[in-house]
Amino acid sequence: MAILKNIPKVDKVLECEGIKSLLAAYPRPLVVNAVRSSLEALRAAALRGELGVEAFAERSVVERITRELETVNAPKLKRLVNGTGVVVHTNLGRSPLAESVGKALNEAAFGYSNLEFDLDKGERGSRYSHVESIICELTGAEAALVVNNNAAAVLLALSSLAPGKEVVVSRGELVEIGGSFRIPDVMRQSGAVLKEVGATNRTHPRDYADAINQETALLLKVHCSNFAVVGFTAEVSAAELVGLGLEHSLPVMADVGSGNLVELTGLLGCHEPTVQEFVRAGVDVITFSGDKLLGGPQAGIIVGKTSLLAPMKKHPLLRAVRIDKLTLAALEGTLRIYRDERRALKEIPTLRMLTASPAVLSRTAKAMLRRLRRGIPATVRLSLTEGFSQVGGGALPLLELPTTLIAVKVNDMPAQDIEATLRGCPVPVIGRIYKGTFLLDPRTILSDDLPPLIAALQALGTCQAQE
Ligand SMILES: *Cc1c(COP(=O)(O)O)cnc(C)c1O
Repeated sequence: MAILKNIPKVDKVLECEGIKSLLAAYPRPLVVNAVRSSLEALRAAALRGELGVEAFAERSVVERITRELETVNAPKLKRLVNGTGVVVHTNLGRSPLAESVGKALNEAAFGYSNLEFDLDKGERGSRYSHVESIICELTGAEAALVVNNNAAAVLLALSSLAPGKEVVVSRGELVEIGGSFRIPDVMRQSGAVLKEVGATNRTHPRDYADAINQETALLLKVHCSNFAVVGFTAEVSAAELVGLGLEHSLPVMADVGSGNLVELTGLLGCHEPTVQEFVRAGVDVITFSGDKLLGGPQAGIIVGKTSLLAPMKKHPLLRAVRIDKLTLAALEGTLRIYRDERRALKEIPTLRMLTASPAVLSRTAKAMLRRLRRGIPATVRLSLTEGFSQVGGGALPLLELPTTLIAVKVNDMPAQDIEATLRGCPVPVIGRIYKGTFLLDPRTILSDDLPPLIAALQALGTCQAQE
């Protein structure tokens, strides 16, 4: 094809003025790669017959290479605007941290710390000691241990409590969490033997009792995080399981998933058990996540009886699943807020968003609409509509939280195109499509999100204007 003759050679391109300035700003191999891939893209587009001769002008080629370099060099993990209304969105980084956590996080990150140094004794200390007392204070537990995430907490606890022995679990609680965490698989990995009892919808205390034998090491309860069994159901409560455990001298463990520390029933009109409830019921070992309802960083928290946690603190697996110092700083900062529950409900974004009332959300949506309208072209039409948000993160899967949504329309642009354009912005905006309309939920839009949201809606108006 004659048009291919217009494609310049790599060496030639590297010598032109526009590229020289790129070479001054970026490492040479990065620039060379960008030149090569841009020329290849140019060639492919030319072969498809998509390009006119003007695409081969030096200025257009340099522009193409500059864009390519900017894309390659931009951070891949980036901030975005969560307009989905799913508060604990696992794909979007679960819980944003409370602002007051920033200071502790910064200090741990940019300076030295007493991470593993006992300042009283002047000798080696334990990284696990810093948050143990506050976790015990908040939950009422005797002892606590923190690890990388809840999956690690469950693995460590099972490996420590029941290697080669049987663990009794209800068939209705053999949960799979997104991202391939499945109770039976974790059990196998830990070396414990799964002993399923009961039926999918109903399990009775006698099912556990009948399954207990010489090989039994543990009775396990797992929170049905992301699903609900409705209809003709029966489950054995934590308290009943503790009774059985006492009768047979067996420890009881609960993987409670979300790690809720605040009684939310009055605020949500729906009961999500608290960690404290399980402690009070006498459960021996309880594990939960740090970044679900707790609203902290990714972490796994184990609380329970001192005698059962002591071997976990010495287990070889602990090193492999240990918590890092930044997480520890953020976790301690978050837990400190919980000392004052009212403060926690206000300052911890996950709790604040979750418990925002319909009236507050309606006001927020109206105010947001006014702000947005001032900054965007008239082609982008915004309106308000009633709808629902979700908790997400494996808690209260059936709960629909009333909210006021912002519908985004641009002439006859299909909702799919609106979604893709906003997702492709420098600060991407993620929403959802319901019955052919693109929707943003103010519940999960943070106050710092407004400038990038305006920028994204402006881009949407511009791209429509070009079509
Ligand atoms: C979310 C969840 C897990 C996994 O926790 P991570 O912190 O994501 O590792 C385990 N068990 C239950 C019941 C959960 O809800």
